Amino acid sequence: MQQQIVYISVGSNLGRKLENCRRGIIALTSCKNAVLVARSPFYRTEPVDYTDQDWFINAVFSIRTSLSPEALLKRLQGIQRRAGRGASPVRFGPRILDLDILLFGDLVISTPHLIVPHPRMHKRRFVLQPLCDINPYLIHPVINQKMSDLLARLDDSDQQVVLIDD
Ligand code: ADP
Ligand code: MG
Repeated sequence: MQQQIVYISVGSNLGRKLENCRRGIIALTSCKNAVLVARSPFYRTEPVDYTDQDWFINAVFSIRTSLSPEALLKRLQGIQRRAGRGASPVRFGPRILDLDILLFGDLVISTPHLIVPHPRMHKRRFVLQPLCDINPYLIHPVINQKMSDLLARLDDSDQQVVLIDD
């Protein structure tokens, strides 16, 4: 497959959260067919959807890869499992490591296992803020708007994200 730039969200709210995120990024990008292009700063972020849980650490990073979307998803799931993530009893509940594909070049994918662009990315400050740190001019291939405009339009005051010094 042709090389693509892929944006990935990394998050953790269990154990050594920052360390878990860093290790997740390294696990993916230490092989030669997934090269790290950019990484945002890390943020402490308020949980959304299921709010009765600890705050997360989140970041977004981009890679250049020749992997197919399905192969990349499998690889991300393997990394999550090896980090110690089992099946969660709660949807959107606590997790040691979460790696989600946000954008895969300009591809639009909708299969039972993979939806790209990520279906909730444009509503989440913990995704859009770090994504804009890397590339605010990126166009959402379905909504057809710049990430910086999507971020500016969020009016959700209860989605706090706090930059951390790392
Ligand atoms: P979430 O990240 O939405 O909180 P999970 O990490 O538990 O939830 O993922 C649940 C399922 O979402 C995975 O089994 C995967 O097949 C599916 N999925 C669909 N689209 C994506 C995507 N873009 N990135 C990662 N997983 C995805
Ligand atoms: Mg996930």
